[in-house]
Amino acid sequence: MHASRADARDCWSFALSTERMIMNDHRRLGRELGIFDTDPLIGAGLPFWLPAGAAVRKAVEDYVHELERRNGYQHVNSPVLGKRELYERSGHWAHYAEDMFPPMEVGGEEFVLRPSLCPHHAIVYRSRQRSHRELPLRIAELGGMYRSELSGVLGGLTRVRAIQLNDGHVFCAPDQAAAEVSAALDLIEAAHERLGIRAARYRLSLRGEGAKFVDDPAMWARSESVLREVLKERGRACDEERGEGAFYGPKIDIQIADPAGRESTLSTVQVDYFQPERFDLRHPGGERPVMVHRSVVGGLERLVAHLIEVHGGAFPAWMAPVQAVVLPLSDAEHAGAEQVLRRCVEAGLRAELVPAGRGSLGARIRAHRLVPYQLVVGPRELAGGGAAVRLRDGSQVGEVPIEQLAARSRPFG
Ligand SMILES: [Zn+2]
Repeated sequence: MHASRADARDCWSFALSTERMIMNDHRRLGRELGIFDTDPLIGAGLPFWLPAGAAVRKAVEDYVHELERRNGYQHVNSPVLGKRELYERSGHWAHYAEDMFPPMEVGGEEFVLRPSLCPHHAIVYRSRQRSHRELPLRIAELGGMYRSELSGVLGGLTRVRAIQLNDGHVFCAPDQAAAEVSAALDLIEAAHERLGIRAARYRLSLRGEGAKFVDDPAMWARSESVLREVLKERGRACDEERGEGAFYGPKIDIQIADPAGRESTLSTVQVDYFQPERFDLRHPGGERPVMVHRSVVGGLERLVAHLIEVHGGAFPAWMAPVQAVVLPLSDAEHAGAEQVLRRCVEAGLRAELVPAGRGSLGARIRAHRLVPYQLVVGPRELAGGGAAVRLRDGSQVGEVPIEQLAARSRPFG
């Protein structure tokens, strides 16, 4: 009897977890929520963002931009392609060519879609003489990068050919590298908390065999020791994996898992002595800087796919595509509801009005159950010029000034 009860329970929990897995698959939910779509005419692995997805993405972009600004980063913008020689210099041509799109010939020169932002940022560093006061120099950019993935492995937002990467590079003296790696991990951990993401594990990704990795054992030993020192200092458990490093250096990868348990890398911090050498970067005084590569939230496609799955579409208020929905009880309150909507929009909220003609109040609430704030305007609220606020968990919080709702819907409060 006990066995059969346990079996029944196992079946039930299996059914539940399978259901949750299917329910929260970002490909299905992403289309249902109007986050993104794909079209064979654009091509596999080239999703486009629909209005709700563009809103979530912009909220996350703005948050990360502000987090970086508060932590001493300067933002730049650089082109999504460059001459083949740029990638020969950076080492991508020799070690990474199979992941790159083939060159395009224009005017007798060859250009490639960039496989990473690092070379452009190395050029930014050396575009002017640097003074001691500028160091460590923290450069960040949200920019496009491209990967020639085979069409068989492409799907949804997780395996794509065009990636919007949150990237950054810190150029610092060798004795500053450990502190900069640690500061980057602080940023990553702060961002994950705000986004509601929990890391599956930290991975120390090391070099492997073969031509994919720069052959300079002393350089690898040096950069690995910086990462190990930081992990030890932070008391952070980390699995070591050979063959997962970047071609130029080791990485601390912060892994996430999808509902089916498949792992991927979201955030990363890397120590690189190779590219500063290749681009002949110099600090004032002639010393060579170290390049700390870091991505706080990775590519926005993978990040938003994960956010869809983690939150099941019920995004935190600051990133929700629609933050407030205004619901007049009947047509008599419509004009008053329009005024409430206007005040929401002017206060910076992403808001919309759903008129009484679209169904009963209960039906309209159910249809917008993922919206953080449901603002009901009945005869009493109409007289007072406000709205009764209902949260998506069903709790009623009464009349709340619109400004206060807007303040609660910002990532930094
Ligand atoms: Zn980089």
